[in-house]
Amino acid sequence: MRIMTCNLLVPAMLLLTCVISGRAAEVGYFANNGFGNPVASLQHPSAEHYNGKTYVAYQGPQEDPQVCVYDHAAQQWTGPVKAGENPLGRKPSPRDPDAIDNHGRPALIIDGEGFIHLIFGGHGGVPELGENTLGTPGGGKQIHAVSRRPEDITEWEVLDNVSPFGTYSQFVRMDDGDLYLFYRHGSHRSDWVYQKSVDNGRTFSEPVSVLKHKQRTDDPNVHDAWYAWFEKGKGDTITVGYVYHRCAIEGHAKDRVNGYFMRLDCADDSWETVQGEPLQIPVTKEYADAHTLVCDTGTEQCNHGTNRVDSEGNPHLFFRQGSGQVRYYRWSGTAWQGPSVISPGHKGQDGDFLIESPSVVRFLLTQGGDGGGEVGWWETTDGGRTWEQGARLISSPTATFDVDALVRNGGPQARMVVSEIDERGGDFYRKVYLLSD
Ligand code: ZN
Repeated sequence: MRIMTCNLLVPAMLLLTCVISGRAAEVGYFANNGFGNPVASLQHPSAEHYNGKTYVAYQGPQEDPQVCVYDHAAQQWTGPVKAGENPLGRKPSPRDPDAIDNHGRPALIIDGEGFIHLIFGGHGGVPELGENTLGTPGGGKQIHAVSRRPEDITEWEVLDNVSPFGTYSQFVRMDDGDLYLFYRHGSHRSDWVYQKSVDNGRTFSEPVSVLKHKQRTDDPNVHDAWYAWFEKGKGDTITVGYVYHRCAIEGHAKDRVNGYFMRLDCADDSWETVQGEPLQIPVTKEYADAHTLVCDTGTEQCNHGTNRVDSEGNPHLFFRQGSGQVRYYRWSGTAWQGPSVISPGHKGQDGDFLIESPSVVRFLLTQGGDGGGEVGWWETTDGGRTWEQGARLISSPTATFDVDALVRNGGPQARMVVSEIDERGGDFYRKVYLLSD
């Protein structure tokens, strides 16, 4: 195991706006001012490797986006830099756990000219921002910020060019530079949409609805709602894995069931099934059940996971099912295979994976138990029939770990950002690590 070293010894609260340079003692983490749940796989990517450096965004004090950059050749961290203000964190008591929203943690991506883009601050927007025609209000405001200079995290400006009603914001950048911003357009009872930019994020199209929320005809108290995770597929395509949320106004519960998959052809922004049959958007619950279903879990819980494609373009994905167990599925070319249970699993298990060949897949997963936790590899070499545990990259007897999605364009030297949650209690500040192989 080799954990990146850092140079931060000053208290977290002093790091709000300054850039720390020079080296002090070496510790395993690169920042200690992560706040609440600083990273998650849903808001992604939150780290990208670019020109020999890894840029990382996470949620810091008052839920504001913090950015650090690691120069791999120089083995030197710069940051954290506070890159903006998150309206969700402007609360009277940042130490009240109920006051930490966590929905507006930042996603990060680098455009074709090297500018660094952040999207953060949204939990569906407040009514004062105007009428939300695609959903219901939540809180905060989706904010798009960009670095003032390429490959430089020290100064940021807000670009007022995306809907303020977003949450769970996710960037996908295509090989030709086109930038897609996917998000849920409000609180639970809202459409999932995208806005597309063909000029490195300087302007975006109007939101296009992909997944439709609507009142159910069999129970007006209940709306169809969704959780979705978008990623670049093979060539000029984007894939999405998603789950259904039965959103009750009275008697609300967090129920999420069923797994779904579909694909966007970015050449003409048309959607299709895994078999390549055309789809009409926005997709409703009934339409999704008929055309895009991966797994019908009945009443068993099914939370979103990540999805990626192999060299033949076939999707592999996972959902967190039952008590939170990671279960893997893959498209064989003619049918969905799975689920296959990767590890014993636990509530809140999460991770991401990379595909080395259609039958060789490696997951980086959290594991927990008895107050401690770890993040480590699990690998299949037979298409998911069997899994073997590999190296542990980080572990603790008293802390568990939250993880982001894999570092964009990362490799052995920069795989995943994790934050450490001390299970013995304490405050809401977290150490944040960048894991390499
Ligand atoms: Zn709901």
